[in-house]
Amino acid sequence: MLRRTFFLHAGAVSAFLVLVLGCSGGGSEVGGPLGPTNDPAHLDAPYVILVSFDGFRHDYLEMYPTPAFDRVAAAGVRAEAMKPTFPTKTFPTHYSIATGMYAENHGLVGNQFWDPDRGEAYSMGDRSAVEDGTWYGGEPLWVTAETQGMVAASYFFVGSEAAVGGVTPSYWYRYDGSIPNNDRVDQVIDWLKFPAESRPHMITLYFSDVDNAGHSYGPGSPEVGAAVAAVDGSLGRLLDRLSELDHEEDVYVVVVSDHGMLAATADGADPVDPTLFPGVSFVTMGTYASIFVDDDTPGRAEQVRDSLQAMLPGHGVYLRADVPERLHYSSNPRVGDIVIVAPSGRTVVTPSSIPENTYYTHGWDNDFPEMWGVFLAQGSRISSGQTIDMFEAVHVYPMITHLLGLEANPEADGRLEVLLPVVGG
Ligand code: AMP
Ligand code: ZN
Ligand code: ZN
Repeated sequence: MLRRTFFLHAGAVSAFLVLVLGCSGGGSEVGGPLGPTNDPAHLDAPYVILVSFDGFRHDYLEMYPTPAFDRVAAAGVRAEAMKPTFPTKTFPTHYSIATGMYAENHGLVGNQFWDPDRGEAYSMGDRSAVEDGTWYGGEPLWVTAETQGMVAASYFFVGSEAAVGGVTPSYWYRYDGSIPNNDRVDQVIDWLKFPAESRPHMITLYFSDVDNAGHSYGPGSPEVGAAVAAVDGSLGRLLDRLSELDHEEDVYVVVVSDHGMLAATADGADPVDPTLFPGVSFVTMGTYASIFVDDDTPGRAEQVRDSLQAMLPGHGVYLRADVPERLHYSSNPRVGDIVIVAPSGRTVVTPSSIPENTYYTHGWDNDFPEMWGVFLAQGSRISSGQTIDMFEAVHVYPMITHLLGLEANPEADGRLEVLLPVVGG
């Protein structure tokens, strides 16, 4: 049963919407000649379902039973791990998977951040920002598809609710974590049953259960095990229901996660008192910190950096230009004038927010194995039973554009060579 809440791409179908619905929001079962259609050149292209399991740490595949994930691995490829981009937070990492860009280049440098040029803050909790395409750089997969005449659909993915460069997927939903996972899966199957002219080729799907349980109970807990079992069941349902399609062999399933999870210990919380730093704004604190030095007296930023470094032994405290290159977190002014990168399990906090107990989170340096996610994929061009080394999440984008026969954004950081051996030349 199709849920009647999805949104339609504004441009091509607005007349249709007015006709059918009498309004510009809401949704409708679309698929006929008036709905979005594929350019005939794409009719032979395969279908890609990009499924993200938030916070699914790479070693959960060993820690817990995962029969459906194992089916994908057996039918196709599994990476030892997928290395997320820094910072290892949901919004930047998902948007890196979607665009093939590091956070400094796509611009979503945190779940929350300050834009000094706009003089405005972005926050994942602020719907008006989340749905405002002007915050988002790069070209997510669904935009690459739509701008080349290929229909795309999203049952949730970071960035899919905004018109990036003026373009959304033809079908998308406003994020609502309470929508049952099976409804999401069933909608994807319904999309794949559309007639070929209007059937979306690029589809995203997202599940948050494992991240939620991970924050509350931590890796290794039975509660995370229950969440893993639940999403494994949803993945199994997706795989099972693909057999209802007469074009099942044309469907690729690409499974990813955005980061892992790790305990932040109470005694590893290192306090910094912002009132000691007049004219300095601590925008983000925790597993990393983003700091703006409003006072532009020459040498002031260096002085603040040195004071912070003296207070925070073991942390990396950097002027923006000096952030280690491997983190790709320098070129964008949104990252802050000073960036603190906390050591594993430790955090930087204000004196009033020192935690009483250990809690579980992510956001740390992407070199820490506890921050690594998963990658598995199956489909006709992927030979079965392959295991590949860890690779960086930015390389998923060119693999998918290649599978779909689309021209990849030339500005993406990801390179096709990395995963080309997996999908064949
Ligand atoms: P975090 O653990 O803070 O990095 O973020 C994880 C949370 O992001 C999930 O539990 C979801 O509730 C939330 N989330 C995921 N996608 C979206 C979205 N498109 N809009 C708003 N919130 C989202
Ligand atoms: Zn996440
Ligand atoms: Zn999380």
